[in-house]
Amino acid sequence: MAELRVALTAEKRTRRILAVGSGKGGVGKSTLSANLAVAMARLGRKVGLVDADIYGPSQPRLLATEGRKPEARDKTMIPVQSPWGVPMLSMGHLVQPGQAIAWRGPMAGSALGQLIEADWGETEILVVDLPPGTGDIQLTMLQKYKPAGAVIVSTPQDLALIDATRAIGLFDQGKVPVLGLVENMAGYLCPHCGQVSDPFGHGGAEVTARELGLPFLGRVPLDIAIRQKSDAGEPPAAGEGPQAQAFATIARAVLA
Ligand code: ADP
Repeated sequence: MAELRVALTAEKRTRRILAVGSGKGGVGKSTLSANLAVAMARLGRKVGLVDADIYGPSQPRLLATEGRKPEARDKTMIPVQSPWGVPMLSMGHLVQPGQAIAWRGPMAGSALGQLIEADWGETEILVVDLPPGTGDIQLTMLQKYKPAGAVIVSTPQDLALIDATRAIGLFDQGKVPVLGLVENMAGYLCPHCGQVSDPFGHGGAEVTARELGLPFLGRVPLDIAIRQKSDAGEPPAAGEGPQAQAFATIARAVLA
């Protein structure tokens, strides 16, 4: 993260891209992107969010901007203001909800360009929620809109961690500093019996981070309230209590 911080203080007005990636889908990358952006905004940063998950945009739902359409000025889009202090843009704002997006690589790449080159105003940090894996969008990001740093999300499960390692390799090749690993869906607190269990294992991301010589940025428990609040467009990071604290801890680690 040192590089991101140096870049921000040296050229205050220069926007820096923070990519959030994962090796595969369903590990909570979009959930983390949304909540990381909200947590950073709560820490006083000017943060924007781009949903680059062009084929499966979920940020409008997560940040309660579903159905909103961005305005444009001189062919440049103006980000949609979410109720959580984070301006944002997503393909989900440009198509009907549920509409399938069947584009080939170059079209998806130019759509991504429109979102990133929008009128972000004073935004200092642009959090970019990448699609899972290592495809065209990721390559466009590395080649055209090089992130100042990347955060990788994984569940503690071995298979997810192997995929995460592949995603880390992509950023390494693109010479994008990987700021660290986040473990999501770690430890499930049963709301009925109060026991904690580990459906996806425990501590795997921390071990992998250590093996790869990367910082471990923190863990988010598997918590039904996170899923419920996310689906309701109320990011847990905007609330109080342990979930908000978990995301605030990760945001501080990323900005440290
Ligand atoms: P990805 O972007 O990696 O595909 P999502 O962020 O869309 O993953 O998360 C997949 C599903 O898991 C969503 O329904 C989300 O609400 C849920 N989810 C993510 N993280 C957690 C968590 N820590 N606890 C409970 N549910 C979670």
